[in-house]
Amino acid sequence: MHPLAQPAGRRPAAWTEPRLGAAQLPCVSDPELFFSEEAEEILAAKAQCARCPVRLTCLNGALQRREPWGVWGGELFHRGVIIAEKRPRGRPRKAAAAA
Ligand code: SF4
Repeated sequence: MHPLAQPAGRRPAAWTEPRLGAAQLPCVSDPELFFSEEAEEILAAKAQCARCPVRLTCLNGALQRREPWGVWGGELFHRGVIIAEKRPRGRPRKAAAAA
């Protein structure tokens, strides 16, 4: 579950401070974007993170929690680690499989 979807008491402190409410975070308006399978949407999510005031806190938290998937702190996570890009679903191409 995305931390922003959790009750306020379970969110990281930086997200519940009175001066920086969760409603001010870029990912609140379209949380699905941050868990998209589409490369263009993943890039759009990363761009929103780039202007987020809690980006480093978010990234550190995601690394500590070993987030299984999604864009966190401007990085794409898969099974707890940062990856450069998401592979399309399905079987690998024959040329790639033979290499
Ligand atoms: S860095 Fe990205 S995922 Fe993290 S709170 Fe900010 S907008 Fe949301």
